[in-house]
Amino acid sequence: MSGAAALAADERLAAYDFGPGHPFQAGRLAAGLSLLRAAKVLDDGDLLRFEPAADADLELVHDRDYLAAVARFADPGAAAADPVGAARFGLVGDNRPFPGMDEAARLVAGATAAAVDAVAAGDRTHVFAPVAGLHHAQRRRAVGFCLVNDVAVAIARRTRTSPLRVLYVDLDAHHGDGVQAAFYDDPRVCTVSLHETGRYLFPGTGEVHELGRPPGTGRSLNVPLEPRTGDEEFLAAFDAVVEPLAAAFRPDLLVTQNGCDGHAGDPLSDLTLSLRGYRDLARRLHRLAHRHCRGRWVATGGGGYDLERVVPRAWALLWSELSGRRLPSRVPPSWLAGHPGPAWWVEPRRRRREDGPAGTREMEERNRRTVRAVRRLALPPSVRVVYPLAASGGTTQRLPGWEPRAGRYLAPRGPLVLRDRCPASLLRRLEVDPGIHTFVRAAEQEREVLARIAEEPASEVAVAHTPEGVVVGYVAVLEPEPGTRFASLPGLLEVGAVEVATGWRRGGVASALLGFAVEPDPFEDRILVASGLAWHWDLDQSGLSASAYRGVLARVFEAAGFEVLQTDEPEIAYHPANLFVARVGGRVPPARRAAFTSRLVRGHHPMP
Ligand SMILES: [Zn+2]
Ligand SMILES: [Zn+2]
Repeated sequence: MSGAAALAADERLAAYDFGPGHPFQAGRLAAGLSLLRAAKVLDDGDLLRFEPAADADLELVHDRDYLAAVARFADPGAAAADPVGAARFGLVGDNRPFPGMDEAARLVAGATAAAVDAVAAGDRTHVFAPVAGLHHAQRRRAVGFCLVNDVAVAIARRTRTSPLRVLYVDLDAHHGDGVQAAFYDDPRVCTVSLHETGRYLFPGTGEVHELGRPPGTGRSLNVPLEPRTGDEEFLAAFDAVVEPLAAAFRPDLLVTQNGCDGHAGDPLSDLTLSLRGYRDLARRLHRLAHRHCRGRWVATGGGGYDLERVVPRAWALLWSELSGRRLPSRVPPSWLAGHPGPAWWVEPRRRRREDGPAGTREMEERNRRTVRAVRRLALPPSVRVVYPLAASGGTTQRLPGWEPRAGRYLAPRGPLVLRDRCPASLLRRLEVDPGIHTFVRAAEQEREVLARIAEEPASEVAVAHTPEGVVVGYVAVLEPEPGTRFASLPGLLEVGAVEVATGWRRGGVASALLGFAVEPDPFEDRILVASGLAWHWDLDQSGLSASAYRGVLARVFEAAGFEVLQTDEPEIAYHPANLFVARVGGRVPPARRAAFTSRLVRGHHPMP
């Protein structure tokens, strides 16, 4: 599965060392590289050449006076002479200045930049930069052992000059706050961080509702996990969020931060992953890179502070995955002689207890709630249906059948055919107008999403297409995601998408198509709701204000017999463009209607 892989590290990086007693020290590099050599999975030809990063590159992410401070305080004695000056830039405490730190930080940034360059240019398929992923560094402040944000610098250098779309996946136990901040308003760099919740762990950020800023709204994702989260829950969160995100965002390049400080043995976090979990995560990232990024993958080492037992093994497992080199069955005794520990690469498999320690169930349930919230906020419903949660438990039964219908609508731009109950085979034969791109970039991909929705037993797709067979709009009616409040009410369906291609908007297509889609008689037995959450992350490009956009949505739904209602669903309150609409079918029994109202509706929403 691998092309040529490379390792962006050499002994020069040992200079990045906060000194004895500090968690981030040169011993990490020595232990890791010596293990790769002892295991005979690293040759000199695997090493990628790199040079210290240039000022011009660092200044894409950092202020000049901060960089000057890092240089000034790299002189021994400078910080002692001006402790207040050093503290102003965060160069204090955990980030205390050390001699030569300027050059050391530039080397780290240079390694990551060379890695990204080699992969973006196609010289190497995958590159691993183990001493890299300094994800906390801010524009003008050293934070959390991170002097420069090598990842942000390396990404910014490429995206400045080429139209690359980058997916950054951060698996470190700590929130990847610095990288998120660097691209918070950038629609071309999508960051997703899985980490221990900031309620308990540094840096305290990384909440679900940190979603980016225009024009990058919806392109910063965070999955804050509970203390004691282990392999199983972490992997489930990854599968539920990162895989569909990659499918929808369609990146050109995958950059990952593979910090292993979420390991149970790590002194700095409360997560309980194992090396087995990290190996499985590496496999998933590798597969994701080939599926969605043409293989292009740069992995950085990130955090990890169990220097003897965890970090070298985690690096070896990651390098083995990315390079295709097989590790020997046991950790080489020659290496163990200098690094006492077990001979296994991953912990022996333990039987999972039926009933973990008190609080395990609660931890799992809280994590599931978090994952569902992230999916609702950041993934369009159509993508969620194609990438469902593993858990089942929906209560909606399949709609009774009706004969597929066709209708006509004369849009200002030309005649359209409206169709419902489209079989997947038909959808796969139609073209999709490239102006349909709420989230999924490629028309090809959009068509496949539509076809997959049509294959779901409880989902319906209606489309508007030109006489030539080009889809310019669609409505998806979906079963609510299991575990959500919507799913807990029987007979409720969600209008998950009303989408019209850019060139066909403002011609009444959305209203006509929605009206057509919800017309069939079986919908009289159902409550249809829509919440307009993630479909409008293209709001930034629409040129409409949030309230104007909300007004457009409200009018489209009202024309199809929906009412705008008030609800206390927190995700709807989150953004001013969100709205909550419902249409209760004429044959919905009164008890069901009452249950819906009492659980979800807080009154009628006054529209401006
Ligand atoms: Zn590969
Ligand atoms: Zn960390």
